[in-house]
Amino acid sequence: MHTWLKNLKTPCYVIDEAALIKNLEILCALEKRTGCKVLLAQKAFSAFALYPLIGKYISGTTASGLFEARLGYEEMQGREAHVFSPAYTEEDFAELVKICNCIVFNSHAQWDKYKAQIPQNISAGLRVNPEISTQNHAIYDPCAPFSRLGATLESLKNKDLVGIEGLHFHTLCEQDSDALEVTLDEFERKFSYIFPKLKWVNFGGGHHITREGYNIERLEKCIERMKSYGLRVYIEPGEAVALNAGRLAASVLDIVYNGMNIAILDASAACHMPDVLEMPYRPQIIGAGEAGEKKHTYRLAGNTCLAGDVIGDYSFNCELKAGDKLLFRDMAIYSMVKNNTFNGVPLPSIAVLRQNGELEIIKEFGYEDFKNRLS
Ligand SMILES: *Cc1c(COP(=O)(O)O)cnc(C)c1O
Repeated sequence: MHTWLKNLKTPCYVIDEAALIKNLEILCALEKRTGCKVLLAQKAFSAFALYPLIGKYISGTTASGLFEARLGYEEMQGREAHVFSPAYTEEDFAELVKICNCIVFNSHAQWDKYKAQIPQNISAGLRVNPEISTQNHAIYDPCAPFSRLGATLESLKNKDLVGIEGLHFHTLCEQDSDALEVTLDEFERKFSYIFPKLKWVNFGGGHHITREGYNIERLEKCIERMKSYGLRVYIEPGEAVALNAGRLAASVLDIVYNGMNIAILDASAACHMPDVLEMPYRPQIIGAGEAGEKKHTYRLAGNTCLAGDVIGDYSFNCELKAGDKLLFRDMAIYSMVKNNTFNGVPLPSIAVLRQNGELEIIKEFGYEDFKNRLS
């Protein structure tokens, strides 16, 4: 067991600085080789204490609305701040023009509504829907039928796009560059008539660039293809920035038996790793195997009243007992940003495991954080 884990108060997210830097080096090298610009999609990872570090390697942040845009602007200073939202409110738009370098619209109508308010120094873009699905998770597929995300080719017929400097698409989720290539073919086929008026193209996120085995050469070919039109390329990965760069430390609170052994943890799927239920997926645990693989199998479950707050069935070499600690892998992304205090369950603290092996607690939460969200 890691020495830092022994005295750690759980639940706690532990961001792994060395692993984060390893990812950032890959993304920085991509920028250097191709001249593309990489933006952190904050929706996946908003641990702003790390923004100054991240800003040393990549070009900036992108945001899903005013609050994320402001966080990127304030915490990753001097870098680009982009924003896309399915629809802007007038109040938010007035603020966004003060802090963003690039604003991406979801429809021609939204662009038309706000274009007179966009200052010279802000680049305006339009998100398009290439209408080519390359994945099977409907909930994460912006190209699924009746999608609200991105203007379709049809919707742009006879529309004036003067002033639009870039096109944006985001259709991938945890995918390799083969899916990007298929998407780019269709994007090019449908929208290249607009390219002569543009300065840039944004390939969105969902590129699993820092995953072992990802074909980065093919991504570079896709970037070169757009460069041949004279266009700058942006990509805005969320996952790939902090992939495998964090863990969730949890403790066993009790073991109950009902047809099988069930370990109740101080971490909850519903509150602290909602993608386990939403995606759904099975998180990996250091030192644990599939059910039945090792000697002792347990169902791991959260400390809420939700019957379905189950993380999964895992096996261990030794019996689990109250006080034992577990480390869930790959918990930096889509975890802290999605936390909730359902059932009044405490939010996990946030810590950084520094490159030198020291653990630094950077945030702790308490009763006030629960209460302040309610009234
Ligand atoms: C979610 C999202 C991203 C980041 O996606 P990842 O899968 O985390 O890489 C980027 N851009 C937009 C518009 C998104 O909605």
